[in-house]
Amino acid sequence: MNHSSTPSTARVFCIANQKGGVGKTTTAINLAAGLATHGKRVLLIDLDPQGNATMGSGIDKSSVSSNLYQVLIGEATIEQARVRSETGGYDVLPANRELSGAEIDLVGMQDRELQLKHAIVPVSTDYDFVLIDCPPTLSLLTLNGLAAAHGVIIPMQCEYFALEGLSDLVNTIKRVHHNINPELMLIGLLRVMFDPRVTLQQQVSAQLVSHFGDKVFRTVVPRNVRLAEAPSHGMPGVVYDKSSRGAQAYIAFGAEMIERVVPAAA
Ligand code: ATP
Ligand code: MG
Repeated sequence: MNHSSTPSTARVFCIANQKGGVGKTTTAINLAAGLATHGKRVLLIDLDPQGNATMGSGIDKSSVSSNLYQVLIGEATIEQARVRSETGGYDVLPANRELSGAEIDLVGMQDRELQLKHAIVPVSTDYDFVLIDCPPTLSLLTLNGLAAAHGVIIPMQCEYFALEGLSDLVNTIKRVHHNINPELMLIGLLRVMFDPRVTLQQQVSAQLVSHFGDKVFRTVVPRNVRLAEAPSHGMPGVVYDKSSRGAQAYIAFGAEMIERVVPAAA
């Protein structure tokens, strides 16, 4: 803890894309581990009832004593529910199928979209980064994520329909910005599962850059089987095979995020 100045508070980022299977969880886990390798204190919040970010961080989602569900309905705090990912070097707020019930329980609550934001406040000086792995929906859960965040990172594959789906998400971010969370910004688009040998991917990638300019991250994450294998070993790809091209890309992406996010306590 730095005694000479007030402790810095965490920057909070959603990893979101309402399209399924685009690499959100892989990005969340490996960015968390990548930031940890750069010495950053990270909390990874699993906002998806599938619990993939939890399991991929080496935490058994069915055996945790409490999880994000209890936090959202006010029966536990993040301090009580967080678990250390020993393999990843970061903390995890775990999730499992129970979380799907939160949608219903939250509906009757006041400030139902602000529960996650309120829950993060007491732990925000414990971390440099809080990353939220969103489910592939624009649901009340995702809204809680967007309401709690400073920014959104959108992982995407450079495919034909990618740009079309993107406009829905960008509009949602704008609406949340105007109505609920004026701090929310699109931080950037991360090209993932990229295969430079595919001409169409190169074309879509170039289109993205011409549309979104420097909102497209410099780092490109290649399609790399080591990243896909890692979750079954309960560890981030960054740890499972640090020298692989996929791991190296996420370590570089961690450095790019640190560079983009001006440190509050500098
Ligand atoms: P969902 O929408 O279901 O939450 P998601 O967007 O979180 O999915 P992931 O689970 O991260 O997507 O990835 C989908 C699949 O693609 C997984 O099997 C994952 O291992 C694989 N994958 C992700 N990124 C890469 C990559 N760069 N190279 C190879 N495989 C990858
Ligand atoms: Mg996922």
